[in-house]
Amino acid sequence: MKPEDYLAPYAASEARSRGRRFDEPRAKYRGEFHRDRDRIIHSTAFRRLVYKTQVFVNHEGDLYRTRLTHSLEVAQVARTVAVALRLNETLTEAICLAHDLGHTPFGHAGQDTLNACMRDYGGFEHNLQSLRVVDELEAKYADFPGLNLTFETREGILKHCSARNARALGEIGERFLKRQQPGLEAQLANVADAIAYNNHDVDDGFRAGLLSLKQLRRQPLFETQYAEVHRRYPDLEDRRLIYEIIRRMIDTVVSDLIDETQRNLDEAAPRSIDEVRSASQPLVRFSAPVFEQHVALKQFLNRHLYRHEKKLAMTKKVQAMLKKLFETYITDVEQMPLEFSSAAGRADETGRARVVADYIAGMTDRYAIAEHTRITGKA
Ligand code: MG
Repeated sequence: MKPEDYLAPYAASEARSRGRRFDEPRAKYRGEFHRDRDRIIHSTAFRRLVYKTQVFVNHEGDLYRTRLTHSLEVAQVARTVAVALRLNETLTEAICLAHDLGHTPFGHAGQDTLNACMRDYGGFEHNLQSLRVVDELEAKYADFPGLNLTFETREGILKHCSARNARALGEIGERFLKRQQPGLEAQLANVADAIAYNNHDVDDGFRAGLLSLKQLRRQPLFETQYAEVHRRYPDLEDRRLIYEIIRRMIDTVVSDLIDETQRNLDEAAPRSIDEVRSASQPLVRFSAPVFEQHVALKQFLNRHLYRHEKKLAMTKKVQAMLKKLFETYITDVEQMPLEFSSAAGRADETGRARVVADYIAGMTDRYAIAEHTRITGKA
């Protein structure tokens, strides 16, 4: 059976792909989206995700999610939905695995600090950086910069974009100026990201002792499953109780996403990916009641986990660390490895700042800490 036979007409397919930036001969045994996924997995940026913070800084514990395990969980969630909706599973997987490649060390604290350091030089945005990694920064091929991924994978990586950046990006930025939607695989990767972190952050937050059962039970998404699990297994110990609840929460939101999106697709009946792109809103959506509960959980995690006072102390520490690195490299580019210092040496002030941002954004948590120690002599 050819892929086109099981894919829905609104799914992305190789036959309808807008292709790569630089033409390449086709592979003998792999499809184009398979090649994208493989290139992402073989990239340096992908390997670094294992030592980058999701919520907890890498050295805080061995069992917490890192950007790598987060990305794998996003891909697993999204692939299930892709198959159920007859979307392109491999493209979906490629987008999910690449979605956080541009993340700085130390998670959002790192992103915010680098953005502040880059204020006068065009700012820093991790999502845009993910595209920059696959388009420019990975140096793997003799014939072109970056990984030369297909348009569809790159479109999925670029989730949001300012009008100014969109204009500078050309074809890939067009949809932000025309207010169009991305393909369904991209829409799906975006929602799967939120499903994955909402659920694994409950697990990690509970494990860390920063979230309590009592607090979590005030969340409707959690409480519904808690009541059911507690009724069936009244004597279950906390650890297994949490897992049992989380797996049911994931099942609930994923099933809702599939059912609601199928309804939207049946109603809108797009005949092609272009009709998906010109729809007035994304078609991959939760139902209204589940969306409300999903957002409530997200806000709860934001308030009680991401801004927990124990986390804020670490946030302040890592912000000071990255700020120090930025100031050091921009005033003395020789402090960076040769490929970065020579690129910075050739550039104007704005270009130099971008080289420094690329260097810092690529660091793992522990490399940034080691560099800070080397520069300041302080651990
Ligand atoms: Mg993510």
